[in-house]
Amino acid sequence: MVEAICRTSDRVAFGECRLRWSITSHLRENRSSISVNGAYWFGSGIHYALEDKYGDKRFVNAQDAFQAYVDATLIAGTAPEHYAEDSVLALGMLRYYEDVWLEIEIDGAKRNELETFVFNGVPQIEQKFRIKIEVPNKIYPDVYYEGIFDRVIVDEIGRLWVLDYKTTQRFTKSDIYMNQQALTYYWAAKHLYPEKKVAGVVWWQFAKRDPFDKDTRKQKINPTKDEDEYIKREWIPMKDINANNEYKNMCLQVRDMLNPNTSIYPSYGTHCRWCSFRTSCQIKLDKDDEAFRESFLSISTESQAYFESWRAFLQFPKIS
Ligand code: SF4
Repeated sequence: MVEAICRTSDRVAFGECRLRWSITSHLRENRSSISVNGAYWFGSGIHYALEDKYGDKRFVNAQDAFQAYVDATLIAGTAPEHYAEDSVLALGMLRYYEDVWLEIEIDGAKRNELETFVFNGVPQIEQKFRIKIEVPNKIYPDVYYEGIFDRVIVDEIGRLWVLDYKTTQRFTKSDIYMNQQALTYYWAAKHLYPEKKVAGVVWWQFAKRDPFDKDTRKQKINPTKDEDEYIKREWIPMKDINANNEYKNMCLQVRDMLNPNTSIYPSYGTHCRWCSFRTSCQIKLDKDDEAFRESFLSISTESQAYFESWRAFLQFPKIS
């Protein structure tokens, strides 16, 4: 291998549990659980619906794009068991966004969908990036940081913001000092668009509640141009020094990942709740490493590509 690639998911996993990192990272075992993570499936569908709405616009609306995603994942075999129930929720959320949230007037004007930044003729939507980083190590001559911006937007005074969509049970207030992804996106955008002023990150949260379901509990929030009880946009301004310091942190962490002698061990904690390898981990505690390895190999498959296989099965509306 002549190059190493690091992603934010690597850094999060490495920070939380080195054992999970070693199973999932392409720098090590590079495996994904075949029991599809429902939250991942749900979030990917909402992302795809918004990607199409602000990008290719191949569907009439975001709801149709989501339905096409559902159908494609069913063919690909990556839809979770409870896909029908989750689809009703997602379609309700998207209908609310398009028909209510964007249409309602706040202080005499509709909410702003925000202007997508176009760079070298390409709208910056689901924009993949790959940036070379300087990490001294003995194995890989080239080390890259890879990621995907959900969308980059330009504000009314020409500044760029990296926009990230989140689906969440409850809104959280983003604190940049506890948000590695936001800091990394800011650093990456400054690197990729050096001619532009990059102002920060927009955290765009969609609550996982169906606004058309009368039984859904509502929070009490006075609607603003960026927020109501179901959808919240949070603008997080950042400073140059934040990007510089985050780059230093990133290089130190990646150096540890690339060290073949880095110790690998489980770290038990609340993050285990969302780990697909919990049963294997229990076997590691109760039996031995061989049984553990046999277990995680039996419930996983090679490569993250498994989760993107649905794209090949998308059916687009016929153009008459
Ligand atoms: S269950 Fe917890 S300790 Fe075990 S691999 Fe997953 S995150 Fe690590």
